Amino acid sequence: MADKNSASTGDNTGDTTAPLDFIRQRVTDDVAAGKNGGRVHTRFPPEPNGYLHIGHAKAICLNFGLAAEFGGKCNLRLDDTNPLAEDTEYVESIKADVRWLGFQWDGPDYYASDYFPALYDMAERLILAGKAYVCSLNVEQVRQYRGNWNLPGRDSPDRNRSIAENLDLFRRMKAGEFPDGTYTLRAKIDMAAANMNMRDPALYRIRHAHHHRTGDAWCSYPTYDYAHGQSDSLEGITHSICTLEFEDHRPLYDWFLEQLDIHRPQQIEFARLNLTNTVMSKRRLLELVKQRLVSGWSDPRMPTICGLRRRGYTPQSLRSFCAAIGVTKFNSTTPMARLEEALRHDLNESASRVMAVLEPLKVVIENFPADQVEPRLAANHPAKPELGNREISFSREIFIERSDFMENAPKSFFRLQPGGEVRLRFAYVIKCHEVKKDPATGEILELRCTYDPETAGGKTPDGRKIKGTIHWVSATNAVEAEVRLYENLLLVESLSEVEEGADWKEQLNPHSLRVLRGCKLEASLQNAAVGQSFQFERNGYFCLDSEDSRPDSLVFNRSVSLREASDKST
Ligand code: ATP
Ligand code: MG
Repeated sequence: MADKNSASTGDNTGDTTAPLDFIRQRVTDDVAAGKNGGRVHTRFPPEPNGYLHIGHAKAICLNFGLAAEFGGKCNLRLDDTNPLAEDTEYVESIKADVRWLGFQWDGPDYYASDYFPALYDMAERLILAGKAYVCSLNVEQVRQYRGNWNLPGRDSPDRNRSIAENLDLFRRMKAGEFPDGTYTLRAKIDMAAANMNMRDPALYRIRHAHHHRTGDAWCSYPTYDYAHGQSDSLEGITHSICTLEFEDHRPLYDWFLEQLDIHRPQQIEFARLNLTNTVMSKRRLLELVKQRLVSGWSDPRMPTICGLRRRGYTPQSLRSFCAAIGVTKFNSTTPMARLEEALRHDLNESASRVMAVLEPLKVVIENFPADQVEPRLAANHPAKPELGNREISFSREIFIERSDFMENAPKSFFRLQPGGEVRLRFAYVIKCHEVKKDPATGEILELRCTYDPETAGGKTPDGRKIKGTIHWVSATNAVEAEVRLYENLLLVESLSEVEEGADWKEQLNPHSLRVLRGCKLEASLQNAAVGQSFQFERNGYFCLDSEDSRPDSLVFNRSVSLREASDKST
């Protein structure tokens, strides 16, 4: 989608009577008060150390949405302060995912690393103002000196180093004179502060590491906490929206801005998105990728944007999901079913209906000539005639689902059984006369049936009741395919249920992927394109797999079932 305004405004403010969430209310008040000259400027600031996930989509919709709704701007800034974890592969995927979601950032791509020189100058200013010092305590010592919630910290022995000596050491840190870990630059705030973030936090660490953008130009890198607020300030951001865990960091960010006397964005925190039965942290997602417990970041079971895209999620469905869950100040966990419902809602409108048999059972229609194929017209959407029709083939040999036949069926079974009739969608009523089995195993090999030529389109001329309608595919032109069915990644709703010390990966669902081979699809699916969604009638919504499918060996993913698994109605 090219027009970011339609993408965000349309989804979030369609209902003009809905009360504003607390962030929109805050921004409205700021604009009304003329703060920042009425400007609204947000940013989405991912660290390029992994692929984006659905939680990031929430932050993206919020930041880009605010900009669009208030006639403002939204930057994309890659917060790349940690050279060890970051990579251009992640940068490219982040940009592609934001665009795919339907948003376009204002201005160029921003990088925290572009501010390394400015951040360095600010650090010297803090040193000159007596607000920062070079400390020689090692990591373990820093921990000991820091104290804890109940115990105030102790001052570093280096805390009262002279300004001249601090400046000299800091410049030599930059020049590469010292090995990793020997010195840090720390803010001089208050080692007894109740807020631990204020106990002389580190601003710079020595790290002789190659950076994906600045190469080997730097060997001292700013910490995230030091870089983040000033980066926002340098970009003229008015509202720095972030997740709740940064609430306790706000006093520190404000302290830097105050000491440096530069533009002060307003930080506002909201609750991050958690979803049931999946993981939502880049660290854990990376663990799954590295240990090959999934096929990669884009495995359709992953909650990553690229995984969801490959699974068949549409940008619209993700945006409307984000709009529906809204933003609050309270941590909670959203049921996965709500995400799936958003997709169903979207695909129910737009997806073409087709027929595909996932677990085929051959049916021979004995009174239909072997050398004949009858074209039948099938509607592409039951409620949208404008989506047109397609031709399917009816023939002597067809496939139906194994589960649509039962030998000793209970009364409530309305599909095919020996001696019984069933309606074939868009074709005829058939009756089963004989069940052919493998004499050795008892496995059903094929059904012998007859069709009633008087029932074209499914209507019985004598008014006899046919309760069941099943889908089917002609054997004459069926396309064979692999179909992948998915379940939740995790067996538990939340990893908080995992016992202390236990490996969370023991909670991975062993049935999260089920592969069906030899599925029989109607001929039109040979031309399916990546990005197109289909409803396989009665089986769910499906899409072509963007990575593994080939024209001569098709692979389809089930995006979502037709209804929630727990919903047993129909
Ligand atoms: P993770 O915890 O998954 O590793 P992160 O917060 O470290 O994610 P960042 O790259 O720093 O990832 O995130 C970029 C932006 O996305 C931040 O503003 C962050 O607040 C937001 N964000 C990250 N995860 C979520 C989430 N689950 N829900 C809402 N916003 C999120
Ligand atoms: Mg982070």
